[in-house]
Amino acid sequence: MYCTEISTKFSAAHFLESEFMHGHNFKVNARLYGNLNKKGMVIDLDKAKNALDEICNEFDHKVMLSELSADSKNKAGEIRIKEKTYKIADEDVVFLPIQSTTAEYVVEYIANRLKEKFKAQNLNLNIFVEMEENYDSSACFFD
Ligand SMILES: [Zn+2]
Repeated sequence: MYCTEISTKFSAAHFLESEFMHGHNFKVNARLYGNLNKKGMVIDLDKAKNALDEICNEFDHKVMLSELSADSKNKAGEIRIKEKTYKIADEDVVFLPIQSTTAEYVVEYIANRLKEKFKAQNLNLNIFVEMEENYDSSACFFD
């Protein structure tokens, strides 16, 4: 089995249960494991990189919120997190179908989206995705 790796980055803000709003310059590394195709590649790296960029660009310069969290429903343009109410323009918010915007849930979401894109191209790959929040901390998701 072979492995190739692609990476990208995005800047976004999020809230965690016990914290205030803050942001990170996230770096995402995706390792793609599979057999070689007729061209001698696991995957066309440009296409793989485009797929990862496309997903991560959706979060770039946005506030990431969980659409499943009752507290963060966007009504009348207001977002309630615990006792605080924020007014953030709709185009600056991205609601994600995850339980909370921890690095673990976000990296799982990115990995699953990436996998869907590869499946649509009939590519059967195992993937390992790591998302760095800071130079010294990251979360990973893999099959
Ligand atoms: Zn954080």
